[in-house]
Amino acid sequence: MTPSPAPSTAPDSDAPASAALLERATRVIPGGVNSPVRAFRAVGGTPRFIASAQGPWLTDVDGKRYVDLLCSWGPMILGHAHPDVLEAVRTAAAKGFSFGTPSENEVLLAEEIVARIEPLEQVRLVSSGTEATMSAVRLARGVTGRAVIVKFAGCYHGHVDALLAAAGSGLATLALPDSAGVPAEMTADTIVLPYNDVAALEAVFAARGGEIAAVITEAAAGNMGVVPPARGFTEALRRVSREHGALLISDEVMTGFRCSKAGWFGLEGPYAGGAPDIFTFGKVMGGGFPAAAFGASTEIMAHLAPVGPVYQAGTLSGNPVATAAGLATLRGCTDELYPRLETTAHTIADAARTALAAEGVAHTVQWAGSMFSVFFRDSPVTNYDEARDQDTAAYGRFFHSMLESGVHLPPSAFEAWFVSGSHDEEAVGVILDALPAAARAAAHSG
Ligand SMILES: *Cc1c(COP(=O)(O)O)cnc(C)c1O
Repeated sequence: MTPSPAPSTAPDSDAPASAALLERATRVIPGGVNSPVRAFRAVGGTPRFIASAQGPWLTDVDGKRYVDLLCSWGPMILGHAHPDVLEAVRTAAAKGFSFGTPSENEVLLAEEIVARIEPLEQVRLVSSGTEATMSAVRLARGVTGRAVIVKFAGCYHGHVDALLAAAGSGLATLALPDSAGVPAEMTADTIVLPYNDVAALEAVFAARGGEIAAVITEAAAGNMGVVPPARGFTEALRRVSREHGALLISDEVMTGFRCSKAGWFGLEGPYAGGAPDIFTFGKVMGGGFPAAAFGASTEIMAHLAPVGPVYQAGTLSGNPVATAAGLATLRGCTDELYPRLETTAHTIADAARTALAAEGVAHTVQWAGSMFSVFFRDSPVTNYDEARDQDTAAYGRFFHSMLESGVHLPPSAFEAWFVSGSHDEEAVGVILDALPAAARAAAHSG
């Protein structure tokens, strides 16, 4: 199947207030958005400006309600404005917004994270996933005294200069930056390999093992759609990196506390050859506020300032309101939550499969815990090249039909669908009712 370009426009007659805000926004904010993925460029049409959200529901500025399958790209695992989180935020905010000193909530959140993930002994709190991976890479380079980072095509680790390279899917291509403004020197020490390709990994380590500081991988890829590691892949990363004295960074910014209480590690680990050296977290652990973290053993973390020579800092790091939201959210991520998320996700995915099959639309559903995505192609996806080989125009039609029926999917075929603990029978019912028409729209272009 050849991917065709998505339509540049789509019917938005039911979103006049969003369209008006977008026009104003476009004057003062580039593209009208503060993160490019919000702009609907991949599916066409007008992004909905959301006025409020409660549980599984989004309400846009035109007053239309949508069942939310975006969940803020992952964080809202308990649903929007969950009463326990709201209470924690209110309580924290009433005591002041930021101190620039240590505070108790930071300790509580760090303890909660360390308690959940066995190999972790310490974490450093930051404000975004990007900061977490950027700092993890600096730490790995500081610990090893080496420069080269190995990453995988299709894995996103935030907009860190050195990691904004997914180019090239051939064997051990030297990475070219994906973004203007990233000088080639910034990615000169980045090697991009195909995801799930152990032979490519072994070849690059055989050639340059002594220069490699770290391998960074999404614990289970979610930023090219959901592409879990093939059986044995993570263990191969562990084995090969250790053989050559390189560190393994597991980026759990998306999967952390989402796939299980202990993230992807909790589902797939512990690994025979040992755990990853450094973990990164974000999204769920902030509960919708800017909080993220990276962590490792005490020995590795001792390289960080003020204990060690690797500098890392942040004015708002460990913010008392953000950490209160994160802590309340993680406390709500109980043993009972995860099976519920999986049941809800499977109900939705099964119905999507049925609807798409009935219309003869090529599709493949892939999973990482309750995270899933629907690829508009017939065969499984194991890497970025395969992920790109899908009918994105069909996804665009599917997306807009769902939106019209009151379901907000991620506005790109390359994203995970997220559910929350608040997705109840009513919300799921709206999704199930919307799917047949969306499948018909996907089947018929024009
Ligand atoms: C979202 C994400 C990031 C970046 O996090 P931000 O908070 O958006 O900076 C990094 N890694 C992965 C795997 C992510 O999904």
